[in-house]
Amino acid sequence: MVDVVCLGELLIDFVSLESGVSLEQAPSFQKAPGGAPANVAVGLAKLGHEVGFVGKVGDESFGHFLANVLQENGVDISGLAFDSETRTMLAFVSLTSEGERDFMFYRHPSADMRLTPDDIPKDLIQQATIFHYGSISLISEPGRSATCHALDLARESSLLISYDPNLRLGLWASQERAKQEILAGMRSANLVKINDDELEFLTGTRKLEDGAKQLLTFGPKLIVITLGSQGSFFYTDTAAGHVPGNALRAVDTTGAGDGFVAGLLSGLLAYSKPGEAYVFPGKTELEACCRVANAVGALATTKRGAIPALPTRRQVEDFLN
Ligand code: ADP
Repeated sequence: MVDVVCLGELLIDFVSLESGVSLEQAPSFQKAPGGAPANVAVGLAKLGHEVGFVGKVGDESFGHFLANVLQENGVDISGLAFDSETRTMLAFVSLTSEGERDFMFYRHPSADMRLTPDDIPKDLIQQATIFHYGSISLISEPGRSATCHALDLARESSLLISYDPNLRLGLWASQERAKQEILAGMRSANLVKINDDELEFLTGTRKLEDGAKQLLTFGPKLIVITLGSQGSFFYTDTAAGHVPGNALRAVDTTGAGDGFVAGLLSGLLAYSKPGEAYVFPGKTELEACCRVANAVGALATTKRGAIPALPTRRQVEDFLN
């Protein structure tokens, strides 16, 4: 039995060893485990929770490498499938001189896209408290049906359903389609986490309250917007608040948002009641959850790469004290 099930892409990021260059210019790359839902799973495991990951990788060296990384970090991989016909998703990434990330994905198709409804571990989901997903597994079939099947199971068993769309425009057929489908994906969620750029893309405004209010109309009960070094903002029908960020020297912000989600879900788990449908706590408790989430997000920026920088519970407590 696990507390949280995370579903989605698990991939290799090949990160340019030089910054300030485009992918065309980059001479060498470092292999790093990645995939937002997988980072969230590792983040939660490091914070001391029981977590399961559901996804698909290639039955080859990279797929086995990623499975080992999850396992070494304490994530249950009974829901991770291996595909012998396609390879693990790859992403090449570099930081350009303008500070933008230049991405190129190898996904033609990749193993993660071939997750099917039959791959979904019913018992693992039905016995959990929280189900977390993203938008990348919703982009094409059969991954989309697999994700929807898992969401149906989570809803039937009254899990708290958490969604971090993680906009990657390059993976969608068009901007319009990305917006439409990402918003449609919110209909299944109780909680949505986005950053300020995603808020603007989805709602046309950077005004936190206005944007959050729009997103509530799609069905979620809690919207959390991350603001980089400025912290985070939460919004429900009855409560709202800005929780300031932590001042520190960021080394690499990759995975900050995923660390934030892990911290947030870790906090929210404390308010679950076994056997009962999840009810969000009030303003004071949500503030406390965002404070922990901000700390996890901040600590995630202090080392290169997403997974190596994710903190343990002890490190978060020391940081907050
Ligand atoms: P995303 O990676 O999804 O774009 P953000 O960059 O907003 O997300 O970061 C998520 C969270 O991590 C923020 O809400 C904040 O708490 C923390 N964080 C990110 N960057 C910094 C930073 N430079 N300094 C301190 N905290 C940060």
